[in-house]
Amino acid sequence: MLRVVVLGAAAGGGVPQWNCGCTVCLMARGEHPELQSTQASIAVSADGAHWYLVNASPDLRQQLINTPQLHPKTGALRHSPIAGVILTNGEVDAVAGLLSMREGSPFAIYAHPKVLAILKANSIFDVLSEKNVARVPIEADRGFEPALPDGSPSGLEILPFAVAGKGAWYLEGKAHPGGNDGTGDTLGLRIRDRATGKHLYFIAACADVTDDLKSRLTGAPLVFFDGTVWRDDELILAGLGAKTGLGMGHISMSGSKGAIESLATVAIDRRIFLHINNSNPALLRGSQERRIAEQAGWQIPADGTEIVL
Ligand SMILES: [Zn+2]
Repeated sequence: MLRVVVLGAAAGGGVPQWNCGCTVCLMARGEHPELQSTQASIAVSADGAHWYLVNASPDLRQQLINTPQLHPKTGALRHSPIAGVILTNGEVDAVAGLLSMREGSPFAIYAHPKVLAILKANSIFDVLSEKNVARVPIEADRGFEPALPDGSPSGLEILPFAVAGKGAWYLEGKAHPGGNDGTGDTLGLRIRDRATGKHLYFIAACADVTDDLKSRLTGAPLVFFDGTVWRDDELILAGLGAKTGLGMGHISMSGSKGAIESLATVAIDRRIFLHINNSNPALLRGSQERRIAEQAGWQIPADGTEIVL
């Protein structure tokens, strides 16, 4: 069985964001705490006992408290069911949570050499000693089976693939420690249970739904997909910022080139938006945008949602 828990569904900053007074953030702080959401990450497992995180968000500590599947096993003084972390990019909301895993438990970090170069260039990540925490390079289009800390197989097969996107925001206009050629900055993942063949896709950042991506996703049982903004100029219109969605490497939900329209004819059993920014009106139950998304078959998950395939 392939198990997945949505640890967090929000984009960078979360809902509410510390310095934001937009409609959604105000409601989330006030009468609608159900709108609160932590920054995007999922946990996956083939056996229900050993888990892999896809990205380690700055909210990881809170996410682990909220997720019984990831608590230390009863009776153990020091233990974690987390066997590894797979990084799909080097953004703050994907890597900062690693710093909350520094107390000596063994696990492995799987990431593209580009992202590993960022970790290496920032010595604060040395709190994760290479003795306990191996850093394993992964490549696009090369599947791998992550190993458990004792070396035995996890039962999961991970296939990373390149997705249209951008490099980490904080490196814009700067020399990337892993080189500026754009390779490896944004990965999607297919995660498959080797025993059953059941699989899901994780694509939390995507700037373009290409024909190649459409054919890859055809027939998928479950897809988590980039839901950052409803419309490309949403932050500008709301007075929240100067960046467009695409300027940040994120496709919008709506519009002729948006995720809903682009994937409408692709056969996917279950489609779930992830990495949803607090400016996105589809977060509001009862909004027109939410209705459009749901009528098109999309789900906007609450943190803690568990799915078994
Ligand atoms: Zn806000």
